[in-house]
Order: sequence, then structure tokens, then C-alpha cells
Amino acid sequence: MNNIIDGVTASLELKKNIKKEIEKDGLTPSLAVIMVGDNKASKIYVRNKKKACEMVGINFTEINLPETISEELIINEIRRLNEDDLVNGILVQLPLPSGFDEGKIINEISPLKDVDGLTYQNVGNLVLENECLVSCTPMGVMELLKMYNVPLKGKDVCIVGRSNLVGKPLIQLLLQQDATVSICHSKSVNIKDYTKRADVLIVAAGHPNLITKDMVKDGVVVIDVGINKENDSLCGDVDFKEVSKKASLITPVPGGVGPMTVASLLKNVVKAYRVQNR
Ligand code: NAP
Repeated sequence: MNNIIDGVTASLELKKNIKKEIEKDGLTPSLAVIMVGDNKASKIYVRNKKKACEMVGINFTEINLPETISEELIINEIRRLNEDDLVNGILVQLPLPSGFDEGKIINEISPLKDVDGLTYQNVGNLVLENECLVSCTPMGVMELLKMYNVPLKGKDVCIVGRSNLVGKPLIQLLLQQDATVSICHSKSVNIKDYTKRADVLIVAAGHPNLITKDMVKDGVVVIDVGINKENDSLCGDVDFKEVSKKASLITPVPGGVGPMTVASLLKNVVKAYRVQNR
């Protein structure tokens, strides 16, 4: 099908450009990832980030801390990395094991090194349209829309999911492109009223088959951010088989937004490096 948005190829293109930029300008960016506990999925995500960093020439350090560690010691580690001039990006792999105050820990990261764009300062600056580091998945979504020349100005864009990580930053990024944005969540009534009129539908809810073909209009562009495990395989939040028959463009899962998230992280590390070395 030629209406499939190929996130793998798009992300390879991005990575190629990042590698070129690093080599051409002689940059030495580095990323430190703090991983607490041994969540299986998180380990896979960290491994992918390491591989991607190595591919483009970003120095990667992984700091593994036990689940039994105190919040104070995690914060000490972050403060040490904040002070280390050789570290440009710091990322705390989420979710943290239960019992930790994620907000408090994340906000210890220097906003200049916050390559996940989750600190108060970066979130606030995004809203105010100041220079900042933006959350990687929303960045990846916007990059895909750009690469596939999807018009946004004056278009109806519906986001399903209002998380701090995905839905909320997307509102700002889409508004900056002059889209008209509606955002649905678990308490929304008649979601279909919103999804059906959308020119672009972005779904990040974490529920397989949440979006069915009767909920979209012909020609819609669908970005499926969801990652769900069903019968040992991965699927998104959209009934891909049926909705792809109506969509003008649609992302698959896997192979859509996921690879773009990692590529956006690399972009953020380079951006952080440049800001710190001005
Ligand atoms: P999250 O924090 O759990 O947020 C889910 C959002 O979806 C919430 O706003 C929730 O509403 C809403 N929601 C849940 N059920 C709904 C329903 N039946 N109808 C409408 N809205 C509903 O999740 P997240 O971190 O944003 O992640 C969302 C999905 O994207 C997950 O599958 C995750 O694995 C995936 N993800 C993928 C990537 C990637 O790189 N591809 C990156 C991050 C996340 P309330 O606010 O009312 O609870």
C-alpha cells in the first residue's frame, strides 16, 4: 500500500543527517541515561537508544541503579551529571519503579540537559514558544507530518490522549503550525464526533482498536502513537487493517512513530550540545 508512512526509512534519513552534522562540524555530544530497576521493556528502549547513539556518533553512558536506591541518591547522581561538562543530555528512563516521585526527580535535571523535554522550564517555554527542548515523541510526530508534506494550517487535528509526554506537547506544536486542535481523553463524551471531523488524527491512548473505521473520515491522515502488546505481537491504538482503507496516510505499529522518537532524542542531544557550547 502506498498510503503507509514509513517511520523506519524516515528515521534512518534523520539519523544519516545527524551523523553527517556531527562529523562535519566535529561535534562531541554525549548522553547519559539513568535506569532504575530492571523493567524489561525499559531495558529494550535503553538498548535501542544506545544503538542509535552509537550509530550517529553520540557518546552514550548508561547508569544502572537498583530499585532499592533512595530518591536522594538518584538526585545526587543527576546533580553530578548536571555539573559534568562532558555530559550534554540527561535522561531518566521512565517509568520509575513505584514509590518514586517522578516529577521531583525529573525536575532535578538541568533544563539545558533535559533531552526528554519534561522539566517545568522546557514545558513552560514550549507553551510560550521560546527556545527549548521538546518531548521526543511529539517531535517525531511533527517530523513525520513534515516529511510527508501533510498540511496543518487551518486543518482540524484531533489528538486522543492528553499525557504530559505526548498529547499535551503536541497541542502546542500543532498550534504553532496554525492547526485547529481538539483533544480527547478518557472522560470525553462521544469521541467519534471529534475524530470523524479530523483531517489529521493522532492517537496516543494505549488501547488496541480504540479507533475503528466508522470513527474517521475518508482521506484522513492517521498517526498512531500507541504501542500495545497483543498475543506476543505489537499493535497500535488504531484498527489498522480497516482504517488504512479510508486513510490517505497512516502510520503502522511497529515501524511508524517509534523509530522517530529515538531519532528525535538524537536531535535533542545535538541541540543541547550546541546550546551548551555557544
Ligand atoms: P498515558 O500517560 O497512559 O496517557 C494515555 C492517555 O490516553 C490519557 O490522556 C488517557 O485519558 C487517554 N485515554 C485512555 N483511554 C482512553 C479512551 N478509551 N478514550 C480516550 N482517551 C483515552 O500514556 P502515554 O504515555 O501518553 O502513551 C500512550 C500510548 O503511546 C501508549 O500505548 C504508549 O506505549 C505509547 N507511546 C509510544 C511512544 C512511541 O515512541 N511510539 C512513546 C510514548 C508512548 P485520561 O487523561 O483521562 O486518563
